This record gives sequence, structure tokens and C-alpha cells, in this order.
Amino acid sequence: MDSVRHVTIIGSTGSVGENALRVLDHLGDRFRVVGLAVRESVARLAEQTDRYRPARVAIQDASRVDRYCALLKEMRVPQPDIVSGPGASSGLAADPDTHVVVSAAVGSAGLEPTYAALRAGKQVALANKEAMVVGGELLQETARSGGGTILPIDSEHSAIDQCLRAGRRQEVGRLLLTASGGPFLRTPRDRFRSITPKEALAHPIWKMGPRITIDSATLMNKGLEVIEARWLFDVPETSIDILVHPQSIVHSMVEFVDGSIVAQLGSADMRGPIQYALTYPERCPSPMPSLDWTALPPLEFDVPDRSRFPSIDFAYDALRMGGTAPAALNAADEVAVECFLDHRIGFDDLPRIVGAVLESHTPRKADTVENILEADRWARRRTLEVAGRNAGRGVC
Ligand code: MG
Repeated sequence: MDSVRHVTIIGSTGSVGENALRVLDHLGDRFRVVGLAVRESVARLAEQTDRYRPARVAIQDASRVDRYCALLKEMRVPQPDIVSGPGASSGLAADPDTHVVVSAAVGSAGLEPTYAALRAGKQVALANKEAMVVGGELLQETARSGGGTILPIDSEHSAIDQCLRAGRRQEVGRLLLTASGGPFLRTPRDRFRSITPKEALAHPIWKMGPRITIDSATLMNKGLEVIEARWLFDVPETSIDILVHPQSIVHSMVEFVDGSIVAQLGSADMRGPIQYALTYPERCPSPMPSLDWTALPPLEFDVPDRSRFPSIDFAYDALRMGGTAPAALNAADEVAVECFLDHRIGFDDLPRIVGAVLESHTPRKADTVENILEADRWARRRTLEVAGRNAGRGVC
């Protein structure tokens, strides 16, 4: 890489944001952190400011700005430019001084900064899968017209992106998304009712935030990844299949029309996809250990059990419904997961509630951010109603 690449991280204090900073530490002076955006975690942001000295930061919750400034003063750290409020991270993402934006905010809040970055022609390392789920078509169109690129950080999609380099687009037969299967892969269905948030938060392979961990336990995460793949790679949902692969060594595969299959393998560490997205189209040495082929467990593959994990079908249904249906699905799931984590609904209520909300959604065109966010708001209200009725004890 011939010149220093300027990086802005949206969601810098979350698990992807922190890992992105670790990868940037390793990559050294070919990259410089110029912007950091957070929702409210100003104590950690102050530490990151001390270490990386970004030119500008965004704090979504404006009431936290004073605290941030006081912390910097205590630490004798010079104050960067500060923007705050709801549109702050979008402004940072589109800043002319930024080349690469790591989009790692949680939930549909990631849509607007991702959209802003692509409109401004940035290279976007996209960890926020919800942005692609709710607004995939719009974001691809925006990337095309604005000159931006989207590089997925989601491990499966990073794998597919890498596999696709082995052939031409018209030679692709189908995408094979692998799924670890989560902690309840072999749990009998009659046990689902009594699964607690604590049990569901203990993912066997990946250490991630709470929503994605619960989504991995219901396989909703894999459903959302089907939607993400549909838009990232412009492949119809009928050519995207899921394979349960509990060892998570094969991160996903592409089958070409001649029957040849290209797979991407590696250790289950999100720093791999992050580094690939930052250094693309180059590859750079990484601190991660090589796979020890002699110590690998047997690699197993199976089709998912859709009767125990109906969330997968909702994702395919949402793609068939089109328009804002994936946005409604995503929002319904986000709210239902919050209700489950608060012990207000059971684990087996999750797909029931999300399915009911999707079924009652009338999709509109998902061709503007406003239409998408309106569907998102509708689904949140609707989910609370359905969950409240379901729990039989008022609104959750
Ligand atoms: Mg994934």
C-alpha cells in the first residue's frame, strides 16, 4: 500500500470496533485512525482518544459530551473535534479526510452512517449486517453511484467474497453459508421453553455482543446472513443454502456452475475478516496462528432443522415479500431479543413473535432511508404489542 489510509470507526467501543483497533495496531503506520464514533461509552472513548489521537469523534448521546471533555482534561489529552447528536456518526463517516470506514454500530442504527459513507465514495468495512439486511438494495445502488465499495466483515461473507475471486460472477452456481448451529443444535425442542438468557448467551465458538449471540442460538443470525448475502453478492435467495458446520473451520463456500466448490478456511477469529476488509485488495501478514491440520476435529456438515429453527424460513419469506419486509423482520427480532433478555418472553416465543410481526407487515419499496426506518419503527411497535399479548401481562 503506497500511502497512509485514514480510517474512521463507527462503533469503536463495541467488540468489532475494539478488534478493528487491534488489527490496526498490528498493521502499523500504513493506517491512521482519524475518526471514532460511539453511542454513549465516553470513558472508553477517552482512552481510545488518548491512544490513537483521532482528529474527530462523534458521540451520539449529546448528554455525554461534557463527561468526555472532563475525562480528556483529567488525562491531559488534547480535545479532538467533537460532533454529537443523532446524525453525528453519519457526518464522521462522510468526512473528506477519511478513506476507509469501519461500520460497526449495533442494529439498524448502522444504516445511516453506512449510507453516508457509501454516498461519499468510501471503502466500507461492513460489520453492521443489519444495514445490509434492511437496506441492501439501496446501499448497493448508493455504492455504485457514489463510487464506494462494501467489504463484509461478517466471517461467512468475508469467506464468500474471497471464494468469489476464484471465478466470474456468471459462473457462480450457489453460495453455501456455514452455520455453527449455536448452543442448542442438539437440544430437544421440548426443552426450548425453559432455555434461559444465560444459557443462550453462552455461544460455543464466537464471542460476540448479546443480540447476535441470541440470534445465533435461534439461527435468526443465519437467516439475516442469507439476506445480507443476497444483496452483497447479488445472488437470488434460491441460490443461497445454509449448511450447519459445528466446528466453524470452513467459513463458507461457493459452488461454481461446473460443480467445483471453493471454500475459505481458517481459525474462528474476527480479526481475520477485519484485516481482509481493511487491506483489500491486498493481503498482509497477520498475527493469527495457522490452522494445525493434524489437530483438527472431524469436520461435520448437515442441513439445518427448520422445524426447531423456523427463523431461517422467515428470512427467505422476507426476501420473497421484498421491499421493507427484511427491515421489519430485523426490527421485530431486535425487540423480541430484548424482551427475551429481560425475561419477559420465553426462548420458544422468539420465532413465534417475529413470525407473527413479519406476517402482518405490508411491504413498501425500500428505496429510501426514510421508508426503511419507517418500517423499522412500525415493526418495533408491532412487536411490543404481539409480545405483550403473548406474555399475557401487558406490553413487554
Ligand atoms: Mg457471521
